[in-house]
Amino acid sequence: MESFNGLQREILRLIKEKNALVLAHYYVPMEVQDVAGAVCDSFAMAQKAAKAREDLIVICGVRFMGESAKILSPEKTVLLPSLDAGCPMADMVTPEDVLRLRAEHPRAQVMCYVNSSAAVKAVSDVCCTSSSALRIAKELDCEEIIFVPDRHLGSFVARHVPEKKFWLHPGFCPTHHKITEADVLAAKRAHPEAEFAVHPECAADVVKHGDLVGSTAEILNFARKTDAPEILIGTESEIVERLRRELPDKKIYGVGSSFVCPNMKKVTLQALYECLRDEKYKVELPEDQLRAARKSLDKMVNS
Ligand code: SF4
Repeated sequence: MESFNGLQREILRLIKEKNALVLAHYYVPMEVQDVAGAVCDSFAMAQKAAKAREDLIVICGVRFMGESAKILSPEKTVLLPSLDAGCPMADMVTPEDVLRLRAEHPRAQVMCYVNSSAAVKAVSDVCCTSSSALRIAKELDCEEIIFVPDRHLGSFVARHVPEKKFWLHPGFCPTHHKITEADVLAAKRAHPEAEFAVHPECAADVVKHGDLVGSTAEILNFARKTDAPEILIGTESEIVERLRRELPDKKIYGVGSSFVCPNMKKVTLQALYECLRDEKYKVELPEDQLRAARKSLDKMVNS
């Protein structure tokens, strides 16, 4: 039985009173995850928001996640607890960058990682998640692909889809990019029996050591299913925390000492409480942008 602190109880009361659905990303603080109606990755979050019966959706995550939820459920009120919780990687690419790349490579289609702004999605051909990127790249009816904004996920896909030519935008996730091969080798030396599950937002020389390379949800499933008693996790620290709690019989280790997304940590209990109390901050998008971005997201969902 979960025991909640005073602020958590007040949040749960507001959720009930306002008939809200709170969706939390795996990287926000655990105490926020504990009061959410569901904890998920960014795409599952948008899908759950679209299917929800509630008209008030609170997205405990960074800005692009709130935008994706709004794109897929424009008739609902979508709130973000922290206005300044952005994603530095999503901010690395602009719609102008995409249009310039299109002009330079007119035969290519634009695939954009879901970790991007609505404005970038609106000028892309198709979106992808880290778990669907490989499949979508293989299935796209073209010989050249412009991949934005994550150069690491893009190069991972390019290595596995050699029949196509890739043009990579140079963006990256500062949190995953910080982990080096030396960090991985040190962690492997310290825990030689551990299997290594790593996110493809890490650099190629980190990813190449992975027993599993996959999205957050795939990493969690791998840890739950493997017979290995020790697992080394190559993604955000909250996942290490979650797995230690969920799998007390396994030894779960993180790589490096600072695998933390500072933006996700801005989504605090206090911010969630004020968000529900004052019904702020509403995600609003221009109608034309919303419609154009929806096409790229729908293509991903229906592919
Ligand atoms: S972990 Fe990286 S990609 Fe995810 S929100 Fe933080 S900065 Fe963006």
